[in-house]
Amino acid sequence: MVQLHNFINGEFRAPAADGYLPLLNPATGQVFGHVPDSTAADVDQALQAATAAFPAWRAVPAEERGRRLVRLAELIELNLETLAQAESQDNGKPLSLARTLDIPRAASNFAFFGTAAQHFATETHLQEGVALNYTVRHPLGVVACISPWNLPLYLFTWKIAPALAAGCCVVAKPSEVTPYTAYLLSELSREAGLPPGVLNIVHGTGPGAGQALVEHPGIKAISFTGGTATGAHIARTAAPQFKKLSLELGGKNPNIIFADCDLDAAVQTSLRSSFANQGQICLCGSRIFVERGVYEPFKAAFLAQVRELTVGDPLAASTRQGAIVSEAHLHKILSYIDLAHQEGGRLLTGGQRVQVPGRCAEGYFLQPTVFENLAPDCRVNQEEIFGPVVTLTPFDHEEEAVTWANGTDYGLSATIWTRDLTRAHRVAHQLHVGVVWVNTWLHRDLRTPFGGMKNSGLGREGGLEALRFFTEAQNVCVKL
Ligand code: NAD
Repeated sequence: MVQLHNFINGEFRAPAADGYLPLLNPATGQVFGHVPDSTAADVDQALQAATAAFPAWRAVPAEERGRRLVRLAELIELNLETLAQAESQDNGKPLSLARTLDIPRAASNFAFFGTAAQHFATETHLQEGVALNYTVRHPLGVVACISPWNLPLYLFTWKIAPALAAGCCVVAKPSEVTPYTAYLLSELSREAGLPPGVLNIVHGTGPGAGQALVEHPGIKAISFTGGTATGAHIARTAAPQFKKLSLELGGKNPNIIFADCDLDAAVQTSLRSSFANQGQICLCGSRIFVERGVYEPFKAAFLAQVRELTVGDPLAASTRQGAIVSEAHLHKILSYIDLAHQEGGRLLTGGQRVQVPGRCAEGYFLQPTVFENLAPDCRVNQEEIFGPVVTLTPFDHEEEAVTWANGTDYGLSATIWTRDLTRAHRVAHQLHVGVVWVNTWLHRDLRTPFGGMKNSGLGREGGLEALRFFTEAQNVCVKL
């Protein structure tokens, strides 16, 4: 059995109330460990440690702070296999995906922000012969980083790295569903030379440790990634305390395929954008709109490939689809499959739970599922399912595709497939989403602004935007 601890002031601590939650492997349905069910008392200990560490950490030159973050990136790379195994065990994702996506990206997050802080310049405004104004960007102080279960270490470090690089101290809470790699990061952060109290990791539930963290008066900013309803709840708590908020929330992303596109590439990439991580990526394209002229060829090629996706043991090299993260989430997805039938959808493939033989017999597996014949405004096409379920819809005109693409409360990302560059730009600019990919998907350059419009979030992460978020601007005006 694995026993996780909180990481506070550079040391591992048991939760004050001695409560623990079970850790479940969704591929086997078996408990493999326990994680602290922390309370306000633990959060307060972490806040005290972070507050005490802040004056010294902010005074460390950016270059030196960066060196330690780059060292942490190297340690993640050195421990890639252990971290990937832990991520797969905790989340159910294919080990191959954890090895090639989650863990390398966690390392890149630290390497990127460790160096980005050294390129973070401020502005000056000169009024010739009159005054010189310059901007100082002060680190905010102690900040909260709260992350979800779908890309556990990837998203956890995407918040922590810029906060630390900017000179803030952090109290972070990973998802209670997938806390294992965050725990392993505690040890590595110590090895990388982060002083005690600079990074504190408190485990526990959203309503428990998470709520206590959001409410704590010592927290200056909250960087949150998770569901839209949780984001709204956090905003209601934090706004009256004037805490800075960065909210990365849900999505219902359109994937628009025009007849003139490279169809093979569109099919290949749509397969990934539909089903990578069992469709549990906020950027997955769950609504596929296909221009009528290529609807049937696209459908035939896409379905042939979907049927080839091997659902199975996440540790097997041949597995393309691992387990759904939890039994509760599996049932939520299955309820949307029922709803799709009720709403008149035609099931093209999938739709059933999968029984994997052997050690995974009790796991939570689902066939990749494709429907057609669902109206753009039906619930299945409006609500975030966050699983391996996509819909296909033919369209006749560009305007129709744009209207449907924009016709949800979400606005995170979109993908456009076309060889017509003028159209690609025109359509991209009309889409109410924070990220548009043209003829690609999930291509990430960490310098770019990342975030959603409408109910998909508030603020932008990535590059200098993240460093701006974790700092506060002060203008100094000098009379000349
Ligand atoms: P969730 O909102 O249930 O939980 C996210 C985190 O918030 C967890 O750590 C949870 O413990 C914590 N939390 C819950 N209630 C809280 C509260 N009252 N106070 C403080 N913290 C609280 O989300 P989830 O189910 O873990 O993740 C799935 C969701 O995340 C999906 O909606 C997905 O679209 C979204 N997501 C968004 C992005 C993005 O970048 N926009 C990326 C990944 C996932």
